[in-house]
Amino acid sequence: MFNLKNFRRLMLLNGSMYMCGEGAFLLLGNRPRITNLWSKIVDGENREWLSRVVVESTLPYEYALKEINGGILLECSGVEVNMPEGKLEVNDGLLRDINIAQTGHGSVRIQMSLEYPAVYKHAVYKGFPSRLVIGLDRSFITGLMSGKKIVVDPGHGGKDFGGRGPVSLLEKNVVMPIAVNLENVLKRIGAKVTLTRSSDKDISGEERAALALNVNADAYISIHTGASADSGMEGAATLYAPHDNGSARLALYIQEEIIKKLKVRDRGTAGQPGLARMDKRIPAVEVEVVTITNIVEEVFLRGLTIQERAAEGILNGLIKYFASDRLNAKGDK
Ligand SMILES: [Zn+2]
Repeated sequence: MFNLKNFRRLMLLNGSMYMCGEGAFLLLGNRPRITNLWSKIVDGENREWLSRVVVESTLPYEYALKEINGGILLECSGVEVNMPEGKLEVNDGLLRDINIAQTGHGSVRIQMSLEYPAVYKHAVYKGFPSRLVIGLDRSFITGLMSGKKIVVDPGHGGKDFGGRGPVSLLEKNVVMPIAVNLENVLKRIGAKVTLTRSSDKDISGEERAALALNVNADAYISIHTGASADSGMEGAATLYAPHDNGSARLALYIQEEIIKKLKVRDRGTAGQPGLARMDKRIPAVEVEVVTITNIVEEVFLRGLTIQERAAEGILNGLIKYFASDRLNAKGDK
């Protein structure tokens, strides 16, 4: 039978009131409760590529999915939220965020905001927890990026080590894993990637520009860190070629996405006269991921997380750039 002592013990054991004895049911009712919400990029069956959203609950419940402006709305009934309400930022390139709210007694709204249109499917997997799984098809992104020729330039190299951190981390070394991560995520969505260097060698700006021209690049992304004699300088910036060819717009998108991913200070975008040597047809930017001369950000740069997130941010900026190009082209017709 229910008593407070047992109840507390069961709470500890289960982390959830639902599994408690009949007394707990008397106290709380047996209405299903949403206990967790998460998302992840996964490979589906049949070689699909999906953003998967999983809503975990104590029991299944009634729900309906519908497309709304800029996303998908999941309306649930006969269920209570038993987790923090509000916005979960995702920024995976397709799914921007998920907002969960209890809108009335037994009714819950889960709104998924999307960057691009996506076909979706859904299924419920009963168990403990019960899982409602929504798969959002990411093929808009692969369709957009397939065959795009991207030159990724790890800055500096060889004798030219670039910036140096307070604990001697060198810019030429730290930009390499970011470039390789970017190469990998770009290849995953069908882009053709050329690295300007894959080893620690010194190459001139002219050679880098010539390589971009040779492969007839659709975009040139040079990866750097900020560096300053002012040890208080921090954060990310994106610089662009001073041609009127989309470089400034590309820089804006990348800067916006990298800030979302890294949550560092936004140093904005600016023209980079050094990129004037790039062919005028190629949108070209230089991303200063964070500032290596700042002691906190130097530590940050040594971690794998920033190396992955920086690449994801740059990727999301590139996708936005090509998506806006496509939308503009449609508008012109
Ligand atoms: Zn640099």
